Amino acid sequence: MNQFDTDFIRTKFLLKGYKEVEFPERADIYIINTCTVTKGADRDSRKYIYKAKRINPEAVVVATGCYAQVSPQELASLPEVDLVVGNTHKREILKLVEEYLERKNPGKVFVGEIFRQGEVKNFDLVVSFEHTRPFLKVQEGCNSFCTFCVIPYARGKVRSVPLPKVVEAVKRLADQGYKEIVLTGTQLSQYGWDLKDGTNLLKLLEELIKIDGVEYYRLSSMSVAEIDKNLLDLITSSPKIAPHFHLSLQSGSDRILQLMKRNYTTEQYARIVNEIVSRRPITAIGTDVIAGFPTETEKDFSETLEFIKKLPLAYMHIFPYSDRPFTKASQLKPKVPPKVIKERVNLLKELDKEKRKLFREKMRGKTVRGLVLKNSQILTENYLTVENTTDAKEGQIVKVKL
Ligand code: SF4
Repeated sequence: MNQFDTDFIRTKFLLKGYKEVEFPERADIYIINTCTVTKGADRDSRKYIYKAKRINPEAVVVATGCYAQVSPQELASLPEVDLVVGNTHKREILKLVEEYLERKNPGKVFVGEIFRQGEVKNFDLVVSFEHTRPFLKVQEGCNSFCTFCVIPYARGKVRSVPLPKVVEAVKRLADQGYKEIVLTGTQLSQYGWDLKDGTNLLKLLEELIKIDGVEYYRLSSMSVAEIDKNLLDLITSSPKIAPHFHLSLQSGSDRILQLMKRNYTTEQYARIVNEIVSRRPITAIGTDVIAGFPTETEKDFSETLEFIKKLPLAYMHIFPYSDRPFTKASQLKPKVPPKVIKERVNLLKELDKEKRKLFREKMRGKTVRGLVLKNSQILTENYLTVENTTDAKEGQIVKVKL
């Protein structure tokens, strides 16, 4: 999602005639599209802000994105920050920067009420300049309010792009010759919930797979609780859906899942993952896991490890738990000591390495489709990056024997 937003901002500036330079080159304007998913993400965002101002103390440094939305005053208090533009105002970022440059606008913080946002506004500019694969944001926001998660406060509630608009955009991309399209959203499986006309992800995919020219769609984050039988049937049977899914687990302990207010059990999660992989064995399933959620005991954590060991997962993203603003979990006690969280992260990282290796070994000898990227690499439909040893050019689909 953030990649999409960054491309959106980049496109706005490029179309207006600005020139982009590689960070950390000297520039007149730095836009830091921040993330706030963990405390570490906040820290990293601040590091880029400090660095930008160090490179050019005269530059305008703009902090935008989720950290700006959730903690605008914290960022505004940094002397290195000239402008704070929340997700609510991202669309107007070019105008705000230019007004600032012309000293027309004395304000520093442009952040509105995220829960008042209407439809997904920045939908038109979908194709970035650097991706061989266009990213299409079809949905933004999440209605789940998991107890550890700040995302709904940063992205708001679900807003979806109406189905005909998505179809129209995809047709345009297909005509331009794009073979892989990535459908993105904060929580893709909640697509359509706000439209109140029965639109949902299944209906969207049913329409999209009819469009000629696109080889496959890659789906971003979905929740297993929102994958019903019909959706499962479609994503495991249609060659137009890439066999690669990201299904967040967060914990392998049912006690912790309940405290997190995740709306599935480990049994449900395992059933969906096993079903997908048994129906389509080349599928790569990735997951997110949080280490050290408040009250997580040794027993809860070893349950998580044991649970993941048994699952056919291809990779994991591991997050050390940290308290986030507005969340219920931040009030929950006892907290797991940072040292223990670190140990648990390390154990999960080892398991992740093993999972990645096992997945590669399992795929050895299999023939899959892949998209040629611009750096003579191929990204396979099941999310492996391999060297391009063919003559195929960027943007083409090739068959790859792994
Ligand atoms: S479903 Fe995902 S984005 Fe939504 S609140 Fe839960 S963790 Fe956050």
